[in-house]
Amino acid sequence: MYLIIRCPGCLTFTYVDRYQQWKLCPACGESIKVSNAPAYIDVKTHRDADSIVRELEKYLHKKKRNNLTPIEKRKLNADYAQWMRKNVSDL
Ligand SMILES: [Zn+2]
Repeated sequence: MYLIIRCPGCLTFTYVDRYQQWKLCPACGESIKVSNAPAYIDVKTHRDADSIVRELEKYLHKKKRNNLTPIEKRKLNADYAQWMRKNVSDL
């Protein structure tokens, strides 16, 4: 399991292994304490994490905003859960 978080310093999205406590921000080099960073979504694989991070950056850039609303966060989680169910049943 991977957790998508955001660097509190430079607001770059990144992800960590579920049990990791610290992460070095790939953009600004800050040591992010995972428990203090805003968490967005739990995903199964680092590939999912990677593509969601890219989607989030693109989405916010398009909307010219710098954060998701709580409703968008819930929708992101719901969409991912649905996508996972669909993928599992396709196997
Ligand atoms: Zn940073």
